[in-house]
Amino acid sequence: MTPAETFRGKRVALFGLGGSGMATAASLKAGGAEVIVWDDAEKAIAKAKDAGFEAIDLRQLDWSGVAALVLAPGVPLTHPEPHWSVKLAQKAGVEIIGDIEIFARERQRLAPDAPFVAITGTNGKSTTTALIAHILKQAGKDVQMGGNIGTPILALDPPAAGRIHVIEMSSYQIDLTPLLQPSIGILLNLSPDHIDRHGTMENYAGVKARLVKFADRAIIGVDDDFCEAIAVRGDHSGKPIVRVSLKETLGAGIHVRGREIFAWRGHGRKLADLSGIGSLRGDHNAQNAAAAVAACMSLGLDEATIQKGLSSFPGLAHRMEQVGRVGKAILVNDSKATNADSTEKALLSFEKGIFWILGGKPKEGGISALEPYFPRIAKAYLIGEAAPAFALTLAGKVPHVQSGTLQKALESAASDAANADFDEPVILLSPSCASFDQFPNFEVRGDTFRELASGLKGFKPAS
Ligand code: ADP
Repeated sequence: MTPAETFRGKRVALFGLGGSGMATAASLKAGGAEVIVWDDAEKAIAKAKDAGFEAIDLRQLDWSGVAALVLAPGVPLTHPEPHWSVKLAQKAGVEIIGDIEIFARERQRLAPDAPFVAITGTNGKSTTTALIAHILKQAGKDVQMGGNIGTPILALDPPAAGRIHVIEMSSYQIDLTPLLQPSIGILLNLSPDHIDRHGTMENYAGVKARLVKFADRAIIGVDDDFCEAIAVRGDHSGKPIVRVSLKETLGAGIHVRGREIFAWRGHGRKLADLSGIGSLRGDHNAQNAAAAVAACMSLGLDEATIQKGLSSFPGLAHRMEQVGRVGKAILVNDSKATNADSTEKALLSFEKGIFWILGGKPKEGGISALEPYFPRIAKAYLIGEAAPAFALTLAGKVPHVQSGTLQKALESAASDAANADFDEPVILLSPSCASFDQFPNFEVRGDTFRELASGLKGFKPAS
């Protein structure tokens, strides 16, 4: 845990008592602050009281003596409308910050030169964060990984010389971190998402841009127009920017060609090769890996060490996770793919022989956008509420069956794949749907797939 000493002797209000809120309250208390906590949910308040925190309705608080309002990232700061606690703080002229801001202040105080790698983007944040942390750990570095990916930042060990913090940041967290000055800031990509929380795409891009704006070194994936514009703005301000691209047009930076990653400056110097790395299949993961390579090079790792880390990356659960094999088929859990956009990445990663399990609670637009990839699919197995509608989309184009449950779908797919004429068929759970009709969340859906798979005759787990 990182005790937040910057608020010693001060009164701090905290709203939002999820995992990061509780960790922040504990950190502030350990650092000697007087913390007052609150939440909109009775249950959360009761839990905080049980943990020994002082809970007072912030509407009853005398704000004149409050040094800061610490907000959980899920609580609206601006859109669709500021939360009532935000309005109260603003009225009283009290600054509003998040847990990563507190960390940033602690870093300033304790170890301003300690590496702090911050990662954001619309997609690929968790993969890139986990990959960087993995490569650094394999290299024997002292690494702390957290933020949006899982462990709250203030629950990690404190900043110290030589210790590297690798932190995933959502746009909400960036919004709450006014002094965000990472030593390495990574912006992977931008596409319209979460506009409800940021009003417009321009606002959303503006928030994301702040992560790289004040970074000592910025790494930017420039394959979309929004990120390219941010990189150009960085050039104008004289900031050293490492561009990452899968396109041919890159002038200088980190360039991906096929499965190879090059440092590019007129000609290419090969840095790494992703061939045969099952956890990094697909162009989207090549973008993530290229950004990770750039970050690790900046931190002084050599190419052989980076390659070793890439090759041993186990991948993240539920994101194209290879859970094992059954006979000649590989089993892939992509339960996190809750919309067609994410499933597209999975279908692009395998050229043929896909035995595709999909369905659940349907999202707007369904799977019609995936039609260009239908020829890659050997057969589809439909589950959940979306099954009848998906059957209509697939009719006459892809052989399919309405399996109903995940268990039935997996059994049929395993039997069909065993008898099919492909060298390496893929049994892929990539549902393109939310899970809530049949499972509490996508994690349970993926875990169920993994468990059912391990019960198949002849199953061999991934090494
Ligand atoms: P995030 O943390 O940003 O949600 P993840 O690393 O958890 O991203 O990946 C979630 C999904 O997003 C993946 O399963 C894949 O479908 C897609 N994805 C991952 N990386 C990228 C990328 N660089 N570009 C586009 N889509 C990606």
